[in-house]
Amino acid sequence: MTLRSPLALALVGLAGLAACAPRPECADSACEAIPSCPDSAFDEAAMRADVAYLASEALDGRAPGTPGDDAARAFLHDRFACLGLRPLPGAPSFEQAFTDAEGHETANVVGYLPGADAGDASDIVVVSAHFDHLGDGRLGANDNASGVSGLLAIAQALSEAEPTDRTVVFAAFGAEESGMEGAAAFLDTPPEGFSPDDVVYDVNMDMIGTYGATGTVYALGSLAGTEGRAAVAARRAEYPELDVGLGEPSDLSDNEAFCSRGIPYLFFWTEDPDCYHARCDVPDQLDYPSMVEIARLTGQVAADLADSDADLRGAVAPGTDVCDRAGR
Ligand SMILES: [Zn+2]
Repeated sequence: MTLRSPLALALVGLAGLAACAPRPECADSACEAIPSCPDSAFDEAAMRADVAYLASEALDGRAPGTPGDDAARAFLHDRFACLGLRPLPGAPSFEQAFTDAEGHETANVVGYLPGADAGDASDIVVVSAHFDHLGDGRLGANDNASGVSGLLAIAQALSEAEPTDRTVVFAAFGAEESGMEGAAAFLDTPPEGFSPDDVVYDVNMDMIGTYGATGTVYALGSLAGTEGRAAVAARRAEYPELDVGLGEPSDLSDNEAFCSRGIPYLFFWTEDPDCYHARCDVPDQLDYPSMVEIARLTGQVAADLADSDADLRGAVAPGTDVCDRAGR
């Protein structure tokens, strides 16, 4: 757990005003290599730089409780502040600390953009991606530095746009690889200022960097009849270069923690036939042009859900299995 100085906490409060401020507790050369805020969202060079940092040998795969885990969270903290995201109301910082099943102290990094509509702002659309990976030489560029770079690009785009009707919470989860522990901590022991009952959708990204391997990005969880399905179907025509697979469920990422609690989800994923959980999952293997477009599509769909006039909370009939276990 990285301790934050009072000055760093104060900078969070000024986040809407300040450009990326140097982190006063950060003095060594590894910290100086942390990328600053990009000039614009969905910038390929900026997203490459984010992946390069998170999946660098210096962070050694970001396993929970390691210095690489601390560094990844510090990076996310700085970027969230830089982009003007807010810590959850009443929370002292962006970090929600928890201890994983093996006793490692780690944290989720959570910030939000408030909704603008008086009626809908209490509804929350969560945009999620896990930042941890396996460590010990497995660097996790696709899994899941790619998804985190997408989350950061979406956060930047939405922070620069008109506010959506619903509140959007950006959740970078820890300890996913050991069993979605960060997402479970977020929903079962929620941080101050957050109620899982307010979440109407989870839009999750995990492994969005290997489109070129198979030529398909899957919008998993886009089950027939869901608002998520409608949102993806409406947007995908704007991405003729992407083949977007619809309709299949998945229990293989943090979205499972949401749907098992009755919250519908979308999970954007590209197959990684060669380097899944392997040492070759390094930044050089990623298809960056496609990753940028997948992130852009995901962000538009998340914003569409946040602006939707549909009753997202009421759209799920009691007793519906939004995990679609029967479809697996
Ligand atoms: Zn993953």
